[in-house]
Amino acid sequence: MPRVVAARIVDLHRRRTHRRPAPPRVVAARIVDLHRRAQAVMAASIFYDVTGDERGAAVTTDTVKVLAVIEDDDTLRGEIARRFADGYDVKTYVGEPATLTALKELRPSAVLLDLQLDVIDGFEVLRQLRNAPELHGVPTIALSNPAPTATVDRVRRLGATELLVKPLVLDEVRTTVDHLVAGRAHRAAGRLRLGAMLAASGLVGREQLERALERQRREGGRLGEVLVREGLVGESDIVAALAGQMRIGVVDLTATAPEPAAMAVLSRDFIVRHRLMPLRIDDGGALVLAMTNPLDVISIDEVGMRTKRRVVPVICTESAFDDALAVYFSSRGKLREAGEQSQEEPAGPEAVDASIIEIVDTLLADATGMAASDIHIEPREDSLHVRCRIDGVLHDLRTLPKETQAGVISRLKIMGGMNIAERRLPQDGRTSFELAGGETADLRLASIPSLYGEHLTIRILEVAPLPPTLGDLGLAGPSLERYEQALTAPEGGIAIVGPTGCGKSTTLYTTLELVKSSERKLYTVEDPIERKVEGVVQTEVRPGIGLTFAQALRALVRADPDVIMVGEIRDLETAKMAADAAITGHQVFSTMHTNDASAAVQRLVEMGVPRYLVAAAWRCFVAQRLVRRLCPHCREAVTMSEQQWAELGLGPAPKKRLRVYTPVGCPQCFGTGYRGRLGLYEVLVLDEELREMVAAGGSALDIQRAARAKGVTSLRDDGVEKVLSGVTSHLELLRATV
Ligand SMILES: [Zn+2]
Repeated sequence: MPRVVAARIVDLHRRRTHRRPAPPRVVAARIVDLHRRAQAVMAASIFYDVTGDERGAAVTTDTVKVLAVIEDDDTLRGEIARRFADGYDVKTYVGEPATLTALKELRPSAVLLDLQLDVIDGFEVLRQLRNAPELHGVPTIALSNPAPTATVDRVRRLGATELLVKPLVLDEVRTTVDHLVAGRAHRAAGRLRLGAMLAASGLVGREQLERALERQRREGGRLGEVLVREGLVGESDIVAALAGQMRIGVVDLTATAPEPAAMAVLSRDFIVRHRLMPLRIDDGGALVLAMTNPLDVISIDEVGMRTKRRVVPVICTESAFDDALAVYFSSRGKLREAGEQSQEEPAGPEAVDASIIEIVDTLLADATGMAASDIHIEPREDSLHVRCRIDGVLHDLRTLPKETQAGVISRLKIMGGMNIAERRLPQDGRTSFELAGGETADLRLASIPSLYGEHLTIRILEVAPLPPTLGDLGLAGPSLERYEQALTAPEGGIAIVGPTGCGKSTTLYTTLELVKSSERKLYTVEDPIERKVEGVVQTEVRPGIGLTFAQALRALVRADPDVIMVGEIRDLETAKMAADAAITGHQVFSTMHTNDASAAVQRLVEMGVPRYLVAAAWRCFVAQRLVRRLCPHCREAVTMSEQQWAELGLGPAPKKRLRVYTPVGCPQCFGTGYRGRLGLYEVLVLDEELREMVAAGGSALDIQRAARAKGVTSLRDDGVEKVLSGVTSHLELLRATV
């Protein structure tokens, strides 16, 4: 028999009497009905009274509206305060670092924020307001001088509810605030307090609940999370209790996949913001909706209005929802949100514009969120395809309708400062993008005309933090010791070699961090500058104006350097100058495009650098490849077959069974089975014997044989060790070391 909650509803006018345990009119009602009634009386909140024997509920309304005004112009601040004097309790702030703390305590009904403040950055305040859990849902109206479109976009992205441009019309400000505050009160009415609900079900005691609420006030977050974190209840207990009380179903989102047709009825933004997920359209045409908080009837109503369908809520856990978000909005979730958007909001040039901006922002946010290094916007015959490179491998991100192509490409070109009228010639552009954490990523854009329209690639720079040590890169054991030994020499050349995208520059940058000190002067010449390094003078080559590697290097050696990093050696002039610098008391770092360490020696000689100079100048060659790291959450142990062992070309298989791991795929790794990458290394140090061999005309093969005899491991050997220790798979090793 289904359980029913007995709820006593007291409306606004009887508010003061609800605590008296008088003989109440007890209404047996489903919780949802209770909410509808609360909404009908425009209540600001619903309180369950769980103090008495009867589990009753009371509806109350906040009558005092508090407006926070952050404005450092005294005149304007006074005018605003006067305009809101009737009906609002106005608190004013000139804007200083302490303002945010004050606002968190105040919990205003709305915030008016001038973006052009003297003491603090208005944009930064806006960002912090959005990130403060105490101020979640508080309408924020930004005030600004007339601003370019990019600024307006940024304000919107940072979470402002409205933007009003100066000079302000005070009546308009008042109307806007009134409207937003009323809307919020209406919204809040539908949100039943989870805590009261749990108390009503007997799952947590009243004292425990109060402690948890107190903690939530201090630390923020959702009440459910706090209770789970405190160990008072399990996530599934909450779900079961709510499902029982509300007589709704439970869904395990880790086991049930939403149907694409259902997912398409709501925008990603809506799904993320309201924490709900459309699952399927049932036979009766109703939309089955997984919700983390099925008490949120306002959202249910909104979904009903948007989709014109009856909504059947089912409940899911918060953690399963988060996992599902990661899966269905990542590389595997090819949601056609753009198409669905254009159905929702037809016509109107500004409507299209807004949705294009949202599409582009979402693409960038998704790609950076997955730590992608590149995004490819690929026009195809009947769609606009988007892929992104994660850990060196391309993954499908989205397929957008062909109609969005012109808008998306133009939007990105505008952001990159490119000429949108020119579509027949390749162009370069650059811009930056604000990441979820508030940091910014530099973006480099390159357009190429293609059969079905302009193709764009976006390189995302500086997203992944640099690994703190060489060990984190995968350089370990005797190889690491040899490399560190080479780094201690005050002069001589060190080159990292390998094909494009093998992680050479990451190793170089990590090395630079290790060798830099306040006593030494470091310069770099790069193409392009991929990372900013504190305390190092970095120069970017610009062949267009004649600033080549060789040109820049010539200037640097006269600028009193201790350490020079040359992005790449690919011509004789640069090679000679680097060698000269290396034999005249400087440490020189660089990269070269050769397959292995001994081939680098050969390449320098072939370029025309005299053998004696190669032998005298170069100290160490490090060959590198990147393999993907297996996701530790889902990798699966398997026994390596004889054939797999044979593929590695390492001679007869060992007698014992070899346990290795294979990729599987889970939400943590966006279904790829891999997370992050690590390097395979071959570290060749030119000692006395090898130098003589180089100077005397030894071939690459001679050098390689001699190196192996000294115990220098090959890339393949290093890889096998990493496969056997379970950090990568044997497929990755084959892919990286063909
Ligand atoms: Zn995984």
